[in-house]
Amino acid sequence: MGKVMTVLGPAPADALGAVTMHEHLHLDQYAETEGATPPDRVALLRDVAIPALRRLHEHGCHTLVDATPMPMRAEPWVYAMLAREAKLHIVLATGFYREAWERESWEYEGCPSYPHRWMDRRVAEWDVEALADLLVQECEQGIRESDVRAGIIKLASTRAAFTPLEEKAFRAGAMAQRRTGLCITTHVEPAMEPLAFPLAQLDLLESAGTDPSRVLLAHVQPHLLRMPGEVRQCLDRGASLCITNLRTDGNESFWRAVVDGIRRFFDDGFGDRLTLGLDWAFDNVAGPFAVCSWMPLPPYVYLFENVLPKWRGWGLTEAEITQMLERNPVRLLPRG
Ligand SMILES: [Zn+2]
Repeated sequence: MGKVMTVLGPAPADALGAVTMHEHLHLDQYAETEGATPPDRVALLRDVAIPALRRLHEHGCHTLVDATPMPMRAEPWVYAMLAREAKLHIVLATGFYREAWERESWEYEGCPSYPHRWMDRRVAEWDVEALADLLVQECEQGIRESDVRAGIIKLASTRAAFTPLEEKAFRAGAMAQRRTGLCITTHVEPAMEPLAFPLAQLDLLESAGTDPSRVLLAHVQPHLLRMPGEVRQCLDRGASLCITNLRTDGNESFWRAVVDGIRRFFDDGFGDRLTLGLDWAFDNVAGPFAVCSWMPLPPYVYLFENVLPKWRGWGLTEAEITQMLERNPVRLLPRG
């Protein structure tokens, strides 16, 4: 079995346990560049994140994938500190986010205004090769002069048609994927209408030379229900899915339909392409940096303590859960 790159160095793939495949420990939605992480944020992570991260072990979960792109991440030492304190494998992303579009307003008064908001400004300023070099450097040498290395590549787009900068970021990500063999995890926008096409991301990555089996399309829970044929094509072509933002505090008919959709994929032989994550974050999306503004407490363990008990009641089997949380991540996370 291969090794998985964590923030504390390579870990054997058979030590991961259950893996939550899409979370954020520090998401600064309004960062212009990656600077020093403010001490009050570090204190919040120490006080609130660490106890929750420690509790993950009680559920057999020893690994968390942090899918935060630059420049929204904390300083690298913060992740190493959290991993050591919680004795948890943390796989950190390198990569770029999407461009906000005109219908998305800044929600936080007083936040900075800069071009291509949410997209790291280097994507506009550098060429594709230099961006790929940056991603590879973060995977192979370390992030921001540290020895903390990224273990997954994050890319994101909003709509069926990419903006030129999103396309550039995807091409850089594809190039870095080929050089590192790491998995690409994407943000397929789940909330803006019209709904983005996961297939568009896969098409672009494949045309740039990425093996679809190294692509994990995330946040596809609405797509699963509203464009099942397209999602099915992604699976047929070898891509994997990450179903996220799982919650038990409402919209029960939606989540029951998602679970039914997951069970149908298992019946159709695609169970080896499915993974789960909460998309839980310490963030400043809706105000000062605090606990998640879009997912319920408790952080991260909510998946194991709230969501999975309910889903078991809806007929999801232990074998299916083990496949999604343990066996599939072990295939995706080591270098391919
Ligand atoms: Zn996310």
